[in-house]
Amino acid sequence: MQTIGIIGGGQLGLMIAEQARLLGVRTAVLDPAADAPAFAVADERIVAAYDDAAALEELCRRSDAVTYEFENVPGDVLIPLAERYRIPQGYKPLYDSQDRLREKENARRHGFRTPEFAPVDDRASLRAALEWIGYPAVLKTRTLGYDGHGQQVLRSEADFEAACRLLAVPCILEQFVPFDYETSVVVVADRNEAVSFPMGRNVHRDGILDLCFVPAAIEPALERRIRRTAEAFMRSAGYEGILAIELFVRGDAFYFNEMAPRPHNSGHYTIEGTTTNQFRELVRYLTGEKLRQPELVAPTVMKNILGQDLEAAERIAAEGHENVFVHLYGKTESRPKRKMGHITFVGMTADGYAAQWADRFVR
Ligand code: AMP
Repeated sequence: MQTIGIIGGGQLGLMIAEQARLLGVRTAVLDPAADAPAFAVADERIVAAYDDAAALEELCRRSDAVTYEFENVPGDVLIPLAERYRIPQGYKPLYDSQDRLREKENARRHGFRTPEFAPVDDRASLRAALEWIGYPAVLKTRTLGYDGHGQQVLRSEADFEAACRLLAVPCILEQFVPFDYETSVVVVADRNEAVSFPMGRNVHRDGILDLCFVPAAIEPALERRIRRTAEAFMRSAGYEGILAIELFVRGDAFYFNEMAPRPHNSGHYTIEGTTTNQFRELVRYLTGEKLRQPELVAPTVMKNILGQDLEAAERIAAEGHENVFVHLYGKTESRPKRKMGHITFVGMTADGYAAQWADRFVR
C-alpha cells in the first residue's frame, strides 16, 4: 500500500485524503494546527510548522510521494527535500506562483494572454504605471495575497492616495479587465498525458468564491481553446501534477489571472459532478496510475459555505435531499468569512438554483 504525504491539512488536504482512501492509498498529513480538518481522515499526523525542516523531512520519510495544499511552503526547505525524496511536482510551480509579477511573466512566456501589468514599488513607479495602463486598474501586493486581500481597485485619481497604503511592500499594477465572467480550469498532467476538467462560471463575493455554475455556458470552441492552452502551458512550463488556472473571459478573449499548483475551490464540484474528480486524479498522478479523463455527469452548481451559512448548510444536510451533497470540513471555529464547507447540487442549473436554493443562504 502506498502512502502519500500532504503538506497542509485544511479542506484541500482533507479531500485529497478522502479520495486517497477510496483508492486504497494511505495519507500522512503535516499541519501546524492539531485540529486541522485533514487529520480526521489521515492515517498519520504530524503537527508542525510549514518551515520546520525536520518535521517536513519526517513527512517525506513516511511517504512514497509528497504533495502540498499550502502554497507558501518556503523554497529553502522544499528544494533540498525534493532532491532526496519524491515530491514529483517539485518547487518550480510553487515558486512561479508565489509572486504575482513572476507568475504573469511566466504565463505570457508559455502561451497565455494576461492583463497589462507593471511592477510598482513606490509612488513614482505607481504614477508611471498608471500613465500607460490608465484607469481603472488594480494594485496588488506581489506576494501573500489571497481571496481579494492585499489589493485595491483604482477607478480614478481619487483612489490614488488610498492605494499608496499598499506600497509598504512590492506591488504590481494591473489593467482592470471588464470581463464578462470569471472561470477556471484544472489540469492534471503526468509525463505522458494531461486531463482537464469541465469549466464553470465562478461568481465571487467580497473577493471569495461564492458559486460555481457548470457548464460555464462558454462557446464549446472557446472552452476547447482554453483547455488546450492550459494543457500546453503546463507542458511548456515543465510542470506535472495538478494546476488550477483562474481566467477572465471577455468576448472570445481570455486572460490568465492567477494559478495554483493544488486542487482548487472551483473544482470541488468535480467530486460528484464529473466522472472522476480533481483530488482523485491528483492521487492517481502521485501513485503513478494512469490518469482518467473526466466527463460532466449533469449540470452542477457548487455553493461555498462560509461561516455565516453554516447553520443553513447543516439544515440542508439534515433534510437529506437527493443529488445534494453537503461537505462540512469539520473546522472547530466558525467565522463569517471562513470557508466551512461547500454544497454540490448535481442536475441543477443556474436558474434552478436561483429559484430553489439561493434564498436559503445569507445574501
Ligand atoms: P485575485 O486575488 O487576483 O484572484 O483577485 C481577486 C478578484 O478580484 C478576482 O477574482 C476578480 O474578480 C478581481 N480582479 C482581480 N484582478 C483583476 C483585473 N485585472 N481585472 C478585473 N478584475 C480583477
